Amino acid sequence: MKKIVVAIDGHSSCGKSTMAKALARTVGYIYVDTGAMYRVVTLYALRNHLIENGKIYDFALQQHIECCRVKVSFQLDPETNLPLACLNGEVVEDEIRGMEVSNNVSPIAALPFVRKFLVAQQQAMGKEKGIVMDGRDIGTVVFPDAELKVFITASAEIRAQRRYDELVAKGEKDVDYDEILKNVIERDQIDSTREVSPLRQAEDAVVLDNSNCTREEQNAWLLEKFNAVVNA
Ligand code: C5P
Repeated sequence: MKKIVVAIDGHSSCGKSTMAKALARTVGYIYVDTGAMYRVVTLYALRNHLIENGKIYDFALQQHIECCRVKVSFQLDPETNLPLACLNGEVVEDEIRGMEVSNNVSPIAALPFVRKFLVAQQQAMGKEKGIVMDGRDIGTVVFPDAELKVFITASAEIRAQRRYDELVAKGEKDVDYDEILKNVIERDQIDSTREVSPLRQAEDAVVLDNSNCTREEQNAWLLEKFNAVVNA
């Protein structure tokens, strides 16, 4: 069977990763969460005081990246076989999902030198195809020739509720729905209006509004699109 690139883009917290992971598992493809990569760079910046009170010391961050001090990678979780995001070899999967990183990631992801650094790695990962990658610019910039492009959206309130449930299920304390909703709306706004690689639907993407879909329904929808392309 021919191997393809599956590019999944869409708004924040709309379940892209859940769908992408499920498809990758079912068809035996590699899964790459590019949002995690932007989150890892953000965590590095926070830990090294290169963002303070929302101010980014972008010149310094660029130097750290250019001097190879920021290594973003994935390690396979032996139990789930899913990739865990690492910063300089340390697994930081939980830390990058917290509110501090979420509140700072979109301005970091808008920096052209950060995008250049990560897009090059993403393109290298997909060279052999057989990959499902999710993000904001996968079908438009990272893999404009992807054989299957999908754009996912859902209402901001539903997305915030899903994120809230996820954080509560993980045992995070002090989770505030209104703060999450504000963050989801803010990230959409920054992601859609930034100058470099703004979030937008590729012209040849198939679109799914999953506001009223169950996980099973959305997974089945995606698998059907995948099969249609590989069997064409
Ligand atoms: O997908 P996730 O919500 O974890 O992504 C975190 C942030 O990373 C997004 O809000 C966006 O600012 C940025 N991002 C991006 N391009 C991607 C993936 C994520 O700009 N391909």
